Amino acid sequence: MAVIIDEEKCIGCGICETTCPFGAISLKNSKAVIGLACTQCGACVDVCPVGAISRVEVAQEVTMDKTQYKNVWVYIETVEGKIKNVSLELLGEGRKLADKMGQHLAGVLLGKNVESLSKDIFAAGADEVYLVEADELAHYNTDGYTTVVANLIQEYKPSVVLVGATNDGRDLGPRIASRIATGLTADCTGLAIDDETGLVAWTRPAFGGNIMATILCPEHRPQMGTVRPSVFKKPLLDYDRCGKIIRVKSTVKPEDIRTKLTDVVKVCTTCCNLEEAEIIVSGGRGLGKPENFKLVEDLAEVLGATVGASRAAVDAGWKPHMCQVGQTGKTVGPKIYIACGISGAVQHLVGMSSSDIIIAINRDKDAPIFQVANYGIVGDVLEVLPIMTEEFKKRKAC
Ligand code: FAD
Ligand code: SF4
Ligand code: SF4
Repeated sequence: MAVIIDEEKCIGCGICETTCPFGAISLKNSKAVIGLACTQCGACVDVCPVGAISRVEVAQEVTMDKTQYKNVWVYIETVEGKIKNVSLELLGEGRKLADKMGQHLAGVLLGKNVESLSKDIFAAGADEVYLVEADELAHYNTDGYTTVVANLIQEYKPSVVLVGATNDGRDLGPRIASRIATGLTADCTGLAIDDETGLVAWTRPAFGGNIMATILCPEHRPQMGTVRPSVFKKPLLDYDRCGKIIRVKSTVKPEDIRTKLTDVVKVCTTCCNLEEAEIIVSGGRGLGKPENFKLVEDLAEVLGATVGASRAAVDAGWKPHMCQVGQTGKTVGPKIYIACGISGAVQHLVGMSSSDIIIAINRDKDAPIFQVANYGIVGDVLEVLPIMTEEFKKRKAC
């Protein structure tokens, strides 16, 4: 299905432009033009006073001129006025892809009063920043952000778009991809350039994490993917670097946004910011019962660490899902990861094996977690944890 405009009939009244909930119609030379952001909702068809707009069946045919698409873009996610680590990580990886492709790297920054963040984006490797500032973009919202980024892509035609696989990124990425009719590889853990085709090779776990699949997007542009936080290291920031800010006017109107932010309620627990944490103490089924998580929390408190959990502990209701580390939880990359009573199933490892130092406590000396651990303690976690907590307390007091 496609929505088309009969130019002969169009009288340029602009009614469709104000009606479209997705900002997909604009007037050019007094004629309505439908952009890629069109979802074929049909709202404009009924309002046109001269019947110039119609919905038609179209054969699925790829006619895209891929040569028009150039450069690597990273969607910059912000939280409380700061750039999220995952966006910096993606700028580092995006720089490598752009260099291999001989193209530019750009950050896409949306928000209100966010221009000052551009210096961090340049410092992380970008050549350009596409900056869109508006009251409607002050907080992330699906309607506004999708429309703005989809319209930017339509106008500037990047070849590759990288988005962090965060809660917001997992909401935004697929919506944009659907709007602009391209593919998206979700939850990637590896990025490279395919030698044969020059396309981005997106790698992600498949079949329950038992194999890694590498996916190419040969027919459509841009090539899009969401990438898990903490898989890549942040690049060293070089504040001597600078670049070009491309200011773009927002195409979003307040009435386009169907949700209203009434309040922000922080539900910060000991699990908060797992993806940004430098030290994580995680508990698994080996803790025996939920009350024993107190031992994990005590050690975390002394170390100033964040608390994580295996899926078995989450499924048992001992901790909320937001604490889960692993394939169907969060991917983390702290300096120190302490695994307490966790066996080390492949689905857990995929979420934490990029940690700098892994310390495992398990009473089974053959537990798979010891294969990735830098330090292993074979013993009862209920006995080892209090000893470690006391020892760290003493050392901190010195
Ligand atoms: P167990 O495997 O039961 O291990 C408990 C460990 O504790 C054992 O090694 C045991 O020796 C040790 N132990 C027992 N008592 C003590 C004690 N007193 N002292 C010391 N050690 C003790 N899992 C995740 O964690 N995250 C995910 O995101 C995830 N996603 C998944 C997605 C899919 C599609 C599938 C199929 C599975 C997924 N899993 C995930 C589940 C995963 O396969 C494992 O089942 C899970 O990680 C096991 O959790 P665990 O190590 O806490 O429990
Ligand atoms: Fe906008 Fe819907 Fe018309 Fe597309 S069909 S141009 S989304 S009103
Ligand atoms: Fe043209 Fe109809 Fe849109 Fe008016 S409502 S601008 S006539 S297509």
